[in-house]
Amino acid sequence: MGTPDQPSLFEPDPNEPLTKTPGTRTERMRVLITVKAAPNPSETYGETVCVAGIRIDQIPHRWIRLYPINFRELDNPRKFHKYDIVSLEARPAVADPRPESYRPVLDTVRSEKKLVGWSRRKPFIIDHVQASMCEVLTAVRDHPPARSLAAIRPRLVKDLEIRPHGGWDPSEQAKIDRYVRQEDLLSTGLRTALEAPRFKGWYRYLCQSPNCKGHRQGIYDWEWVALQRRFSHLDDVALTATLRRNFFDQMCGPAYDTVFYVGNQKKHQNVFMILGVFYPKR
Ligand SMILES: [Zn+2]
Repeated sequence: MGTPDQPSLFEPDPNEPLTKTPGTRTERMRVLITVKAAPNPSETYGETVCVAGIRIDQIPHRWIRLYPINFRELDNPRKFHKYDIVSLEARPAVADPRPESYRPVLDTVRSEKKLVGWSRRKPFIIDHVQASMCEVLTAVRDHPPARSLAAIRPRLVKDLEIRPHGGWDPSEQAKIDRYVRQEDLLSTGLRTALEAPRFKGWYRYLCQSPNCKGHRQGIYDWEWVALQRRFSHLDDVALTATLRRNFFDQMCGPAYDTVFYVGNQKKHQNVFMILGVFYPKR
């Protein structure tokens, strides 16, 4: 690894097999939220966000995915942010073979506190940082279902590709239209359609495997979309420059110890996406 890390008491044993608690019993848990992905059209839930983090009520700490969560429909006291420590009840997601996947009980979600500043977050994250994306991919190919969430410290971030999003595809748009049309008995306002961001992005990088031929992974980070919304008044050239300045020049710049949070798709477990970036100062 590029930076020597001080392992903590909660370090996971890399040889321990990943397991999900058998059955569907609801468990109470505390999770440090590290990943909030961009909202995505969903057939059943309208628009959903994949949230992931580190479960800290058990030792060793371990990755957990919480799905589905619809942030727009979450009551205000239940809304939470990245790097909040959240308590909730959740049960193993039986329809999802990935060992980290749990289904949250949304009305039990409580945000306990916020970890402000990288130095307070780092002790929880460093134990889970891995050097090799290539090894994560080999495991899902050879021994599925394998690890589906990871934190990868790249050897070299070669580029950030930015291209026009082009809008939702027809099946995604149909899901959004159905969701907006549904009568919502709980909500007082009308549902508004989820807008596609103007630009998609991909990181191209080398992991630390000696034989790495390079990875190209799409960015599905909430902040990628939020930044575009915040600067929606800019024209395409200026908005692209803003995305590049933030997501490449800054987050992957020499002053920062860049780590990518990655996760795969349930249907295509060999396809990993960038779900967020952890970038404390070196
Ligand atoms: Zn690699």
